[in-house]
Amino acid sequence: MISESTLLEKTPRQLFIGGEWVDGSAGTFPVKDPATGDTLLEIADASPEDGIRALDAAVAAQEEWAATPPRTRSNILRRAFDLLTERAEEFALLMTLEMGKPLAESRGEVTYGGEFLRWFSEEAVRVAGRYGSNPEGTGHMLISQRPVGPCFFITPWNFPLAMATRKIAPALAAGCTVVVKPAELTPLTTLAFVQLLVEAGLPAGVVNVVTTTHSGALSAPIISDPRLRKLSFTGSTPVGKKLIAQAAEGVLRVSMELGGNAPFVVFDDADLDKAVDGAMLAKFRNIGQACTAANRFIVQEPVAAEFARRVTARVAEMRVGRGTEDGVQIGPLIDRKAVEGTQALVADAVARGARLLTGGESVEGAGSFYAPTVLSDVAAGSDILREEIFGPVLAITTFADEDEGVRLANDTEFGLVSYVFTEDLARGLRMIDRLDTGMMGLNVGVVSNAAAPFGGVKQSGMGREGGLEGIHEYLSTKYTLVPAT
Ligand code: NAD
Repeated sequence: MISESTLLEKTPRQLFIGGEWVDGSAGTFPVKDPATGDTLLEIADASPEDGIRALDAAVAAQEEWAATPPRTRSNILRRAFDLLTERAEEFALLMTLEMGKPLAESRGEVTYGGEFLRWFSEEAVRVAGRYGSNPEGTGHMLISQRPVGPCFFITPWNFPLAMATRKIAPALAAGCTVVVKPAELTPLTTLAFVQLLVEAGLPAGVVNVVTTTHSGALSAPIISDPRLRKLSFTGSTPVGKKLIAQAAEGVLRVSMELGGNAPFVVFDDADLDKAVDGAMLAKFRNIGQACTAANRFIVQEPVAAEFARRVTARVAEMRVGRGTEDGVQIGPLIDRKAVEGTQALVADAVARGARLLTGGESVEGAGSFYAPTVLSDVAAGSDILREEIFGPVLAITTFADEDEGVRLANDTEFGLVSYVFTEDLARGLRMIDRLDTGMMGLNVGVVSNAAAPFGGVKQSGMGREGGLEGIHEYLSTKYTLVPAT
């Protein structure tokens, strides 16, 4: 395996605009390892003017990219998939260094993130239209799909590779050019990824990357520029709302992948082994820092004590440490602020009567670690049931019957994903209709797949990434009438 220092040595540190690596006009900023607090690299800080230059490049490349044969676009994505697969270990290590997740999970993200390249390389050549005659018989109706045009992508820090490929791959497949602004906490993976795209044959200007500590100031002028045709954002709901308001000014098309507050409902007829396995994945993957993380464990009264006992036994055994170390299951949270936020949620729950079964403390030292934690008997009204935890805390409440379980599960303004554990198929199918979420896992703790439409309802956002739906976020429907003579 490549050493950390060799990997960092070859990681790009500049902005990528119009096919050139250039310095940022606002100087540089440090990217830190959350496990140690050490600076990994100093990288370019883009100013708002740099952002507009990146948009200029995307606009200049748009017409030619849209006219590039779909098979050529497809081949570039496929080559990128092959290169990423070859370099999986390097990308995994880079993600673990800047984001903190255990290496095994980073490898999983390379596989997941890479699948969007393969999936959309296949979709690029399957964009279809319609042809028919109008009902009057006086005209030919042609319905075709056109690329939307230049896109702006803003991505979060929790999945540094997959959140970028989930947007970039369908946009390229559809014939759109792109400006990407990765999260300032984890920009290195996106920089390394665009370098790989260039090796795969991507023409200049088609993907541009701006890293910045001035997210708001850089993004606003891009969003209000009439040449931009699409904004796709993954991140928190409060920032998403601000961006929707900015986009409304120019009636800009938006996709929003926002926060979650997933219910994990365990019925008394569930297979508890499956439920506990599912809970460990749904809660502790990515150190609890996933939009799809189970936030509220809603367990039917007869099995609640046994479920709590079994998950506590598993959680108490989890190994905490730097993600690069063998056997570590829980890496650091992204920063100290995240630790304080998690601590406050646990303190509030305990003050309102929750029982602390394991964990419940931050870990001393340079990194931002929080011990994996289980709370039971969490009282209604506790902050932890309302807010996205984004940390390794499993909070259990109980319910009496199906109606109450459904009511509690839907009692949130979010609607990204739900998890249901029951051995009763009829009940499972009923839950698909009764739970107000864009996605559901039935007897399973992870649902993400490049072939599936990922996205939420309510304040979890709008639009879908992946699946047959994903490419349509980057296409607009055009109708043409030709008189029948
Ligand atoms: P965040 O909203 O703080 O930041 C996301 C991105 O927005 C970052 O790149 C940040 O620099 C940028 N940003 C912040 N303020 C901005 C502004 N005023 N204008 C323009 N850009 C701005 O979110 P985060 O902390 O990076 O990520 C965690 C959140 O993302 C959680 O709420 C999580 O649920 C959500 N998320 C959702 C999905 C999904 O698919 N639904 C996936 C991953 C994460």
